[in-house]
Order: sequence, then structure tokens, then C-alpha cells
Amino acid sequence: MPVSKAWHERLISARDTRQCAQQWRTRRIRQPAPLDFASNDYLGLAQDSRVQAAQAEGARRLGAGAGASHLVNGHLAIHEALEEALAAWTGRERALLFSTGYMANLGILQALADTHTAIFHDRLNHASLLDGSALSGARSRRYHHNDIDDLSRLMARSISTHKLVVSDGVFSMDGDIADIAALVRVSQQHDAWLMIDDAHGLGVTGVNGSGCVGTRWGSTQVPILVGTLGKALGTAGAFVAGDALLIDHLTQFARSYVYTTAQPPGIAAATLEALTIVQREPEHRERLERHIGYFREEAMRLNLPLGNSLTPIQPLLLGSESRLLRWAERLHLAGIDVGAIRPPTVPRGESRLRITLSALHSRSDINQLLEILDACHEEVS
Ligand code: PMP
Repeated sequence: MPVSKAWHERLISARDTRQCAQQWRTRRIRQPAPLDFASNDYLGLAQDSRVQAAQAEGARRLGAGAGASHLVNGHLAIHEALEEALAAWTGRERALLFSTGYMANLGILQALADTHTAIFHDRLNHASLLDGSALSGARSRRYHHNDIDDLSRLMARSISTHKLVVSDGVFSMDGDIADIAALVRVSQQHDAWLMIDDAHGLGVTGVNGSGCVGTRWGSTQVPILVGTLGKALGTAGAFVAGDALLIDHLTQFARSYVYTTAQPPGIAAATLEALTIVQREPEHRERLERHIGYFREEAMRLNLPLGNSLTPIQPLLLGSESRLLRWAERLHLAGIDVGAIRPPTVPRGESRLRITLSALHSRSDINQLLEILDACHEEVS
């Protein structure tokens, strides 16, 4: 119990506004597991027995934990091998591992930007990018979502000598894809750096699953490429890929890299295995693509309020929080888990069901989901 009455009241009030999120968390650990349309395990690799075996074997051979930070003696040969594989996959000179995507974005922005920097964010960028900007002390500007004219206008007005444009690759709550070609063009016009966080594109889109930047746009066009490992790759952690100068700088100055224990070696081993599967077995991606096409076709036929996304993230835009919670509850009772996304994660009035498709789903899983969504539409709109 907090000692101070003021603090006690503040915590109680915060708890009350987050009550739904708390309920959700308790329910998710209940058995039997519901039909999962909420996780980011797009290719099903978190459930792949080869990835799981690699993790167990990595832990057995190298230890359950790395034991120290990378710059002390926690940087093992398995980390080095994973960094090299990630760099090759994304067509970059080098890559650097972080323990999570959140930490990667904090560390990268804190290490690259300062009070003399202007950072230009897409309005829908992930929270970790905004938090990294705040931590760096840079002046942040947010342009309208995917609006390159708005970005150009803001950049033209800026007098900062160091400019950095930052965008999600695939937007995590909408599933649409940034116009990378336009971002490259505008960044180059203004002599700015470009950072793309392709957390949700890697493994899912592009040649060999190398994402919406990957081998299509090189380091001269997208100098800072971030990827996370806890989504399509099914494990945990993140990386930044770029040229040697960038990676050397981040190795020394990204505080969330320097001052934390290195990724557990079993996770690195599992990620290497997952990466091999992603590159060698396009069938998982192809199956996912068929699921996306099928789901969208059927959802349109049922007149569901579908978003504008061709990725595994398929939002149903329900508007009010109360409508969202009614639909989510109905799905939950039918044993189907979906993301119920509401403010502050999205703006007020833009609450949505965040449905994520996975190669692990069967056609009948998707039909089951569609059936309940159709019933929600009729009964509880
Ligand atoms: N960037 C984006 C675009 C994300 O969606 C997320 C996770 N939701 C992160 C970064 C953070 O990654 P992690 O979960 O590995 O911390």
C-alpha cells in the first residue's frame, strides 16, 4: 500500500481507467487457449518445433542467459552469427542486436539525435519511436499519416542542420505500408537521414521476406533500418541494420544497448533457425497471403468495416470504445482472441479490433472468425 494518500489516489484512478486491459490480461492465461487472432506470430514460427528445439539447444550449450552486457563479455559468437545473417538478409553491411524493439528505438534515437536535430514523425508511428525522440531532446514534428506533402512542408520550414525522417514500415495498428519511395525522395531532397522501423514488414513482405525496405532500398536510401524479432520471426529482440559507421556509433553510444544484459543465447539460436526457415520456405508467406486475400474478400462481402490494409494486420474500424468492447466481448465468449485497441493507443473515436492473420490459421479458423464477426455486425452494432 503506498504511504502517501495523494499517490494512493493517483494509482487507484489510473487503475480504474485501465480496468479493461487488466481483465484482458487475466483472461488470456486461461486454458483452453482461445483461437488466436491477436498475436504477431505471422508465420507461426513461435510454434515451430525446429525453432523451439534450437532455443532449447542454444540454452543448453551456451547458457540460459548471456551473463553480461555486450561490451563486457556477454557478446557471444551466436550473437555475431545472428547479426551477420540479419545484415545479409536486409542487404546491409552490418547489424546490431537489441533486447527488444522498444529498446532499439530508444537507443538509436537517443544516440543519433540531440537538441540540434529535427525529427519528422509520421503521426501514426509506434510509441517507442516517439519515446526515443523525447529522450534524445530533439525537436519533434509529426506529419499527417502517409502525407508526403505535409512532410515536405514541415521539412522546408525547418532550419535544423540535422534532419531525420522516421516512419513505421507497416503501421502497427492500421496495417498499411509507408510510401518508402516518396520518403526516400523527400529525405534526399532535404539532406535528411531516413529511419524505417519495419517491425511488421520483416518476414512477411519483400524478397525472401526481407520486408518493405529490405533488399529493395539500400543503405544510401534508407540508412537506418530497424527490425524486431518477436513478430514474424517468432522469438524476441530486435536489430538495427546499416553501414559500419552507423553500427559502430550505436555500439558505443546507444545506452539501451550498452547498459543492459545481452540477448539470451537460446533466443539468438532460435532466431537464426527462424531466419533460415523464412528464407528457405516461402510457403508460409504464400499461405499467409492467401489467408489475407480470403479474409478481405469475405469481410467485404459481409460489409464489415474493414481498413485499408494488405498485410496480416486487418483492423475493423468500430469507432467508439463501447462498440469495440461489445464486439470484443462477443468474440471472447466465442473463444476467439482479437486485439481490442482503444485510446490512447489510437485517437479517440478510432477504436478498432486489430485482427492479425497467421500462416498457422486454417481456412476453417478464418471462417469461424468471420461467422462471429457477421453475428456481431447484426446483433450488437
Ligand atoms: N516498433 C513497432 C512498429 C512495433 O509495433 C513494436 C511492437 N509492438 C515495437 C517497435 C517494439 O518491439 P518489441 O515488442 O520488440 O519491444
